[in-house]
Amino acid sequence: EVRVRFAPSPTGALHIGGAHTALFNWLWAKRTGGKFILRIEDTDRERSTKEYEETILDGLRWLGLHWDEGPDIGGPFGPYRQSERSHLYEKYAKELMDKGLAYEEEGAILYRVPTGVRVEFEDAVYGLISVMSENASVNKDGSVKDIVIIKSDGSPTYNYAVVVDDHCMGINWVIRGEDHVINTPKQILLYRALGWEPPKFAHLPMILGKDKKKLSKRHGATSVFEYHSLGYVPEGVFNFLALLGWSPGDDKEVFNRHEAAKLFDISRVTKRAAVFDIDKLNHINQEHLKLMDPFELLNLVKPIWAEMGLNPSKLDDSYLCKAINLLTSRAKTTRELAEYTDYFIDFERVIDRYDGSDISEEQKNRISPFFEEMLNCNPWTGTAMETLARSWGESNGVSLKEIAMPLRFALSGRKVSPGVFDIAEILGPEECRKRLAHYGL
Ligand code: GLU
Repeated sequence: EVRVRFAPSPTGALHIGGAHTALFNWLWAKRTGGKFILRIEDTDRERSTKEYEETILDGLRWLGLHWDEGPDIGGPFGPYRQSERSHLYEKYAKELMDKGLAYEEEGAILYRVPTGVRVEFEDAVYGLISVMSENASVNKDGSVKDIVIIKSDGSPTYNYAVVVDDHCMGINWVIRGEDHVINTPKQILLYRALGWEPPKFAHLPMILGKDKKKLSKRHGATSVFEYHSLGYVPEGVFNFLALLGWSPGDDKEVFNRHEAAKLFDISRVTKRAAVFDIDKLNHINQEHLKLMDPFELLNLVKPIWAEMGLNPSKLDDSYLCKAINLLTSRAKTTRELAEYTDYFIDFERVIDRYDGSDISEEQKNRISPFFEEMLNCNPWTGTAMETLARSWGESNGVSLKEIAMPLRFALSGRKVSPGVFDIAEILGPEECRKRLAHYGL
């Protein structure tokens, strides 16, 4: 059984890079029918906080990356926080000292790096990586550097704790960022010293900004929750992250987690650095908005309306869903969806946008007889109203555009919108009458 783990340090929020690593581990576990384990690497007591741990867990939950074993739910190989596993680090450090492979120096314990031993591993992504032991850990001057396993304050180092934990938790695949390739030979030396078999390794490509620089704040939001508040949906972010360094083939770009889990293959991950392209995220997110159930979308949009000071409590859900449906193909995020639908919720927003200069009195006089007919249209559908507008326009020498533009502005206060007769259909004749009158038509 495949056992993979995500091992974040709770020293910050869940960032894009971390979420990407977690997601690929999750995919590999799902693909192989294995287990996905969450381990909190909180040995840095100064920088680790409970709050960060919580936000990381919340971020993973939001993305739907649920774990089979972890600090909150336990499991057969717990505890799942390094701060609670000191006895294990002490035990194996003592074992290494007893075997003469480690020694104490001013309170710290160091593993003595051997020379002349080849350290090799077959990385599932990068292929064979091979170094001589004396090159696995070196000082600045090039001399061999023994590996600190326990610091003088008694806490274990990352390279040592990760080996003890991965072994003791039965982890047989280590999937993590490419920045750790350099650590892997050191860890393999420790596995050997302890007489343990190393897991398989797969290092994931770096994620770069469009300028090919390491992803950072400069490229936009970095934490997963920022994307949440910007109006991206979990399926969209999931899909986008999965495409960083992998694709299911056949040019298929839009998929859900189940499809991805069926097709994912760790050996098909690319070595090439992946580029974080916000336009692509927008596109993918939009595709997922279109696939969502409108009632589900409505629940995501409602709190954003509230933030915007809009109160839809007097309007029924089926009306609100029609409004959402009409705009879904135009909005990239739920936030945009909330903004683009404001005129369905609150006429005040429309009035705020009227400025009186949009249409001349003469033009008003020319087209206002049409609106009397439109308001009596039966059936009250966008199609029927549009047909009416065309025929009325033909007989009166008025183009459809001359009717549609002022109508659009009267109903929505916007110059760009979906089909204006569709808007009218949803608003209903009474609301349309009120808005037209207010606009002077
Ligand atoms: N705590 C380490 C990190 O966040 C884990 C690295 C690993 O997966 O081994 O980078």
